[in-house]
Amino acid sequence: MKINGIGTSKGMAIGTAFIYKKQKLDVALKPIESIETELLHYEAALKKSTEQLKQIIQQTKRQIGEKESQIFEAHLLLIEDEEFYGVARDMIFEQGVNATFATEQANRSFKALFQQMDNIYMRERAADMNDISQRILRNLLGLDSEFKVPKNAILFCEDLEPSDTAMLNPDYILGFVTEKGGKTSHSAIIAQSLGIPAITGVAYEKLGISEGMTILINADESYLIANPEESLQVAFSAQMIQKKLESEKYEALKYSHGKTRDGLSLEIAANIADSNKAAKALEQGADGVGLFRTEFLYMNRQSLPSVDEQFQAYKMALEAFGDKPMVIRTFDIGGDKQVDYLNLEPEMNPFLGYRAIRISLDRTEMFKDQLRALIMASVYGNLKVMFPMISSITEIKQIKVLIEEVKTELDEKGIAHRPFEIGIMVEIPVVAVEAKKFAKHVDFFSIGTNDLLQYTVAVDRMNEKLSHLYNWYHPGLLSLIKNVAASAREAGIWVGICGEAASDPLLLPFYVGVGIHELSMSSSKVAEIKWNLSTLDQASCIKVVDLVLDCETPDEVVEKLSGLTEN
Ligand code: PEP
Ligand code: MG
Repeated sequence: MKINGIGTSKGMAIGTAFIYKKQKLDVALKPIESIETELLHYEAALKKSTEQLKQIIQQTKRQIGEKESQIFEAHLLLIEDEEFYGVARDMIFEQGVNATFATEQANRSFKALFQQMDNIYMRERAADMNDISQRILRNLLGLDSEFKVPKNAILFCEDLEPSDTAMLNPDYILGFVTEKGGKTSHSAIIAQSLGIPAITGVAYEKLGISEGMTILINADESYLIANPEESLQVAFSAQMIQKKLESEKYEALKYSHGKTRDGLSLEIAANIADSNKAAKALEQGADGVGLFRTEFLYMNRQSLPSVDEQFQAYKMALEAFGDKPMVIRTFDIGGDKQVDYLNLEPEMNPFLGYRAIRISLDRTEMFKDQLRALIMASVYGNLKVMFPMISSITEIKQIKVLIEEVKTELDEKGIAHRPFEIGIMVEIPVVAVEAKKFAKHVDFFSIGTNDLLQYTVAVDRMNEKLSHLYNWYHPGLLSLIKNVAASAREAGIWVGICGEAASDPLLLPFYVGVGIHELSMSSSKVAEIKWNLSTLDQASCIKVVDLVLDCETPDEVVEKLSGLTEN
């Protein structure tokens, strides 16, 4: 039986179904012995939950990473926050109700509050709230908080709380399948860091999945197969072996600089969102960092990061990369990346609204703090600073004035800094069309195909219903890329691509052909792209350009490019 879902963490696995049923927690209203004992009982459960969370934070830091552990730091802050724990405590004190009942009532009201929010990110935070409350409830009821699974398990459950996911032992669990939980949920993020394939949107109970069934999971293609026939299982294993062999083949070129067969150098860089990921990107063969998305430094917290906090983060990343280039992009807040404490007003079209550089140039103090931290960090590596969502040359001029103000201020204080390149994201169509003019004002371009495509074809990149129209093989998008590359060449500046399309091996000959200098991608793709690049030569790639641009539809582009790799 083949079942389709939504892949939230890549990979393939064969294992045995293990159904995780959450224990039903008794949260009924019950008589209590006395208010004092019930309050003590509640406080003891809070204390135990705090200790467990501290342990999870340590374990997450060790097994997964610093950034992921922040999810639980946030849980810890909440549990210690009077506004949170005080709701249930006051109910016990004022109404004489039992602690489990009070905790559940408090959970419901907080959850309802989050679920009503317009912002998808905040709605998903209702899961965090639930996670904390479930932990307190289990401790109140004296239930086990441990997550015990047998070896080689493909875990099925309705939803995974973030802390369940962090406690999973990757040696035992080969994959997981959930009924609920979105692509941006913490569970998905942590699954990716652990390298466990995950699929969501599967109503496994209704579909008759039972414990002990053999399961094939292919999260790369968003499906799973339950109870496969012997022959299918054999073919699936062969496919897994093939993938493994391919990745071994890629390993060989991982640490050499990206190059075509005939020696043209192309930097194959990594996209990172956290300075802790810099070392990992280097380990995976990145020639540099082409996009450090700094907005994540501003998320999952209650207030703005201080200059020093930012400085430490940039310094750490720059030091890890040494002389290798690192493009740090100033915060791209807004759109789908909301920062609660900035109190941004809800907008009809957030992707067309108050976002990225538009916020920076309006809230200049906040922006200057980031510039300060970046410029101070410039002495620790090969820094390049990039600005998102640029739509006019005036914005570049305004940015330059602010940079000069910050530099002067630092000079006055005797704080050292080094010259660094400045560049812009080319992700708004007018910039791609007028790239020639923009090129005169910057040191480099980085094409953000994720947004450039959404604005060019007028399709919201988050709208799954329109995903058939959001296609980066659109000849119109490719033509814009060619124009940007040609303008960069004419002006003598370098040009990279940092959207998801950068790591598409099918488009690689086109990128070489138009003269892209750098491709920046998820670090897990770096080795594969270096290998693909090593099979190409410049003359053939140049011929690909017109072949592709003559196409009328994205399908035709794919057909032409696939034909090339087959021959
Ligand atoms: C892009 O738009 O292609 C890009 C890389 O930026 P982001 O995905 O962060 O908007
Ligand atoms: Mg973008």
